Amino acid sequence: MRIDRIDLFHIAMPLLRPWRTAYGEDSVIESVLCRLSSGDRAAWGESCPLAAPTYSPEWAGGVFEAVHRWLGPAILGHELETACDLQSRLNAFRGNSFAKGLLDSAWWNLEVQRQGVPLHRLLGAARDMAPVGADLGVADSLDELLDDVDAAVRDGFPRLKLKFRPGWDLPIVRAVRERHPGLTLHIDCNGGYSLRDIDLFQRLDEFQLAMIEQPLAWDDLLEHAELGRSIRTPICLDESLSSVAQVERGLKLGSAQVFNLKPARLGGLTNAVRAHDLCAAAGATCWVGGMLESSIGVAQCAALAMLDNCTYPADIFPSTKYYAEELGDPPVTLVVDASGTPAIRAPLSLPEPRTDLLRRFTLRTETLSTSSVSS
Ligand code: MG
Repeated sequence: MRIDRIDLFHIAMPLLRPWRTAYGEDSVIESVLCRLSSGDRAAWGESCPLAAPTYSPEWAGGVFEAVHRWLGPAILGHELETACDLQSRLNAFRGNSFAKGLLDSAWWNLEVQRQGVPLHRLLGAARDMAPVGADLGVADSLDELLDDVDAAVRDGFPRLKLKFRPGWDLPIVRAVRERHPGLTLHIDCNGGYSLRDIDLFQRLDEFQLAMIEQPLAWDDLLEHAELGRSIRTPICLDESLSSVAQVERGLKLGSAQVFNLKPARLGGLTNAVRAHDLCAAAGATCWVGGMLESSIGVAQCAALAMLDNCTYPADIFPSTKYYAEELGDPPVTLVVDASGTPAIRAPLSLPEPRTDLLRRFTLRTETLSTSSVSS
């Protein structure tokens, strides 16, 4: 397919309540959308790196600029028959995974239209539904968190993830574990700790957590391997997995036993599927995470979560959990499977932004087109 036009939108989506993690607090989620046009087809993509470079070195304004100035012009007017064609053009640029993921996500949605095959089937998935877990951020109080935990357990979520940061740490885990001894539980540290905190992680072993997600620095692999040799709880990498090469290194070094796959952070679905296959071949567990995207991005995560080796329940939610107004139409919703477990269905129709909300949420927009390039 020849790429004729790229419309870019830097957007800010107001949250129902602030999202607090070890790296800070967001009251709006900044994301970037693109509309990729090829002939009479057009498809949307999303990449959500957040407003500031606090989760990763990338940020929404930077992703917008990188695609507008460099990555977009590199694919405009070119025939991209396969996802590899797209990635090889983008490989001229170093890093910038979220920016590459934006174009990759829209390319796959164009491919869905071209082939008339659902996205998860194009990725190689056989199932149509996958279980999801509950994800609880830092609350105003322990009582508030315990109420949220109780609600998640009542709703049948098969596992729970707690954000974990200094001041919201061991006593929180102890309180939740005492209240729900058999619950599958893990914590996400968002890179907030160092090897000086080894005692803390050793003390966590008694709580039989399913994993400790990204305990150490956002770009580290070596010290995670060292920490893993000192504790019994499995380690999961998230922020450190910024490329397929990082996943390969993480497997080789023994940095983690569990790998969180986020399409945008890995540079797009194409790379996320490669990472999944590498983990499967190495016997490492995968699961899919998200970035508080709108349903446009969530649908891509949902398709990825259908792959065979994504065995730990995904971090995929209907965006009504976080947003008063959902940008994507149709919105992604949860269902309940035959066993009563909250689950996500593979998306059959891919969400597009509602025009009224897109207009209201847009901070900046730009268009690249072959007609303007040639004029
Ligand atoms: Mg995480």
